[in-house]
Order: sequence, then structure tokens, then C-alpha cells
Amino acid sequence: MKRIVVTGKSLSALEDVDDPRVAENYAMVKIHSAPMCTEFHRFLGGDTGPLGGHEAAGEVVEIGPRVNTVKPGDRVVVMPQSSCGVCDLCLSGDHIYCQNKKDPNAICGIETGTTTYAQYCVQQDWLLVPLPDDISYDHGSMACCGMGPAFNANHTMRVMPTDTVLVSGLGPVGLGTAAIALYRGARVLGLELNPYRAVLAREMGIEAVVDPTAADAVEQILELTDGKGVPKSVECSSAETAPDFLVKVAARRGMIATPGWGGSMNAREINAKGLTVYGCWHWNHQQDTQAMMGTIRGAKSLIDKMVTHTFPFSEVQQALETRAGNQCGKIVLHPWED
Ligand SMILES: [Zn+2]
Ligand SMILES: [Zn+2]
Repeated sequence: MKRIVVTGKSLSALEDVDDPRVAENYAMVKIHSAPMCTEFHRFLGGDTGPLGGHEAAGEVVEIGPRVNTVKPGDRVVVMPQSSCGVCDLCLSGDHIYCQNKKDPNAICGIETGTTTYAQYCVQQDWLLVPLPDDISYDHGSMACCGMGPAFNANHTMRVMPTDTVLVSGLGPVGLGTAAIALYRGARVLGLELNPYRAVLAREMGIEAVVDPTAADAVEQILELTDGKGVPKSVECSSAETAPDFLVKVAARRGMIATPGWGGSMNAREINAKGLTVYGCWHWNHQQDTQAMMGTIRGAKSLIDKMVTHTFPFSEVQQALETRAGNQCGKIVLHPWED
């Protein structure tokens, strides 16, 4: 099979390697859609070697012994990470927080199989979520980072049509968050300094996009919320100053969800305002699969706007350059297209 490797600073190529093999409880997936996430940082840094993606949708082509939840031919979304499968977190569908992660490559005795920047990957059967026939691989692959944390944030905060939701950072995760909030009927505001993404967000239906670096950014948000502040906000930028900015503009008794990974919050102000903060790394694929797939189905016209580019594997260099240039929304790779 082919996989993507970094060959130098901002340089990439395709490499031929052996197909992965499966072990007990593992299945092999032929990847049809591989969304790009933060892998471009390694590409920019020139950290050479295979590039590890973690988002995919595809078709099961081979199963190991004792696999009983999927069979060859099944369409699936590949969940990120590989967890123990037996702890309370795994059993309740929160496998992402498992404290006993597994290494599928070691278990299957293979050199590669965990990266989704490849034509095939392996995963434990219970971490393959069934993809309904009427949802395309590209759309289904949004159940990874494109809309997974976003779904959790919207679902946990029970976003509804009477809500105003502020999304901090309108990169791929923020656009996914906005898409779901819009699908749920909410009024959506955004914080973003990249003009390309601000325009894209407005085209999707976000009412206003404020530059978070503007001197009067807090005042602008308060003005947009009748001086009361934002009842529900979602941090997707991972910028150092972003979480505390959301605390500053939060309404009393407001909620903040954080798929983002940067910065800190002022506990004093959280307490003074009576805020609730939720960590939202991924979504619960035991309890919420039907709701997740229903959301993807219902929000498909918004997904078509947020996915701004698709590339065949042969154009990997251009795909990584586009992702690194940030003149894009979500990008999806097609490993079997030339
Ligand atoms: Zn576990
Ligand atoms: Zn990701």
C-alpha cells in the first residue's frame, strides 16, 4: 500500500510499504476518506518519516479472530486512539480518556497500521463505528475531529434554537462546531483573525465574526449579546489567551466547552459568574452514535461548505501546503484516487 511520509522541511512523498495485518479483535479498513488534522506541523518542521493521521472512514476488508462487531464490506468510521476496551471509561463509550492505551502495531506485529495517512489501517473492532449507507465516506469521516469534539460540545451544553453560541477559532474544529450549532438552530458568533476563515464562516451562516486581537474585542461581544455576555461558548482555537477571553465574555451562569488544548482560565471569575466548563476531546460513540450520524446527515450542506478541499494521494504535497497555509476549512484526502 501507499502511505505519506515527510522527506524534509515542507516536503512530502508517497512511499510503498507492506499492507498491515490483523490480530485477534482487530479489523483492517480500506481508507476512502482521511481528513487532515494537525499533521502539517511535522511537515513544516521537517520531522522526517511516516506521517501519522488519526481520522478516517472506509470499508472493512479483513478481520482477525474473535471479531464479531464488523465484517468485510461494512462501511465504518475509524475512531481515533486505541484504548483498553475493558475499563469503565471504555465500556461507557468514553474510550478517548482511557488510561491504558494500546499499540495496534505492536499487537498486530506490523510496522504500520495506526496511521490514517495510508491506504489501509487497523483498529480494534469495537472502535469502528457503523456508517449508514446514505452517508458518504467524506461526510462520515467528520465523526472524527471535524465534528466529534464539536458534537460533544453542542450535545453536552444542549445547544438549542434560543441559544447564542460563541465559537472561538474558526479552523476545522471551530467550523465543525459552528456547523452543528447552526444545524441545531442556534445563533452563532465567531472569534477569528484569519480573513479567509472569517469569510467562510459568514458564508456558512455565522452572524458576526470578531477579531479576538482587536482592542475592543470584549466590548464587541458584549454589544452583540445585549451587554449580558455569551451564554454558551466553545474554545476551538487552542490559543493561549482564548480560554480566559471566553470567561471574560461569558454571561452569568454560562457554559464553556473546550475542544481546544491551550491556555488557562481564571478560576476566580469562573466562580464569580457561576460558570460551568466542559472538556470535550471526542464524542461518546457508545451512547450517541445515532445522534452523531443524524447530525451529519442533517448538516450535510454545512459540511459541504466547511470541507473546502479534497485531494487525491498523488497531490499530497499540495494538500499539506494548503493545510499549512490555513487558506482552507477542513481538507479530506482520498487515498485511492490518483
Ligand atoms: Zn480503557
Ligand atoms: Zn484530528
